[in-house]
Amino acid sequence: RLPVIVGQVALRTHPSRTIGFILDNSARKELDQRKDEFINMASHELRNPLMALKMRVQLTRRRQQKQSHNEVVTALSTLEEPIKQLERLIEELLDVSKIQAGKLEYRKERVDLHALLREVTDTLQYSYPSHRIVVGAPARACLIGDRDRLGQVLTNLISNAIKYSPQAQTVEVKMDTTEDGITVRVRDHGLGIPREQCEKIFERFYRVATPQQKGITGLGMGLYIVARIVKDHEGIITVESEVGKGSTFTVTLPHRRCA
Ligand code: ADP
Repeated sequence: RLPVIVGQVALRTHPSRTIGFILDNSARKELDQRKDEFINMASHELRNPLMALKMRVQLTRRRQQKQSHNEVVTALSTLEEPIKQLERLIEELLDVSKIQAGKLEYRKERVDLHALLREVTDTLQYSYPSHRIVVGAPARACLIGDRDRLGQVLTNLISNAIKYSPQAQTVEVKMDTTEDGITVRVRDHGLGIPREQCEKIFERFYRVATPQQKGITGLGMGLYIVARIVKDHEGIITVESEVGKGSTFTVTLPHRRCA
């Protein structure tokens, strides 16, 4: 039997066990590599808003004497965006570590998913005037769940649809109530995802490595968190995608009648 090379070590073992070891090893290597890339990207993602804050604070301080009260207020409001960016990043990092520790907690309450979707899309539409978010939803869609966490799912899927559609300006969000539950479909006409990577995007720190997606920053935490929240609500998330045509993410949540 030929020796199988695993790293620097040549092994002579039972083939199936050796193959198992190779897979384990390469999966671990891939995660290690993903973590290294993550640390590198995370440092940039943290540093950029921090630098923006630092520069704006310095500028405001330097001009303070010559500025009117209104100008100072305007200058201060430019600090909001980088602060929000940092907040989002830190929240996601905390969520990932809570998931890893099995400590993501939920407050279950009656949620009007229709109202929540309106709220989320109004906020995103305001923040991203470059895209048009088209919403189709029934008048009422009610379930029991964690309102904030479900809002996080919707926000994440819709903002990804915008982020990964640099050229296509329309994002469609369709909510339906069926026998199986409430379905939310988020469809974009953007870059798309290669078929073999569609499952992997729900893994921790995974990012699609196509030339088209290269310039788009992110840390690969959002969908990992989204998938966990959906699963913890006994729901299902799926994705259909074609490179160059766009992607459709579908979330189905069980229907629990609420008065
Ligand atoms: P992030 O966007 O911060 O990298 P996510 O976990 O939200 O992390 O997404 C993981 C990866 O899945 C992204 O890096 C991107 O490659 C891919 N992806 C997610 N949503 C879309 C989409 N709507 N269109 C194309 N690719 C997507």
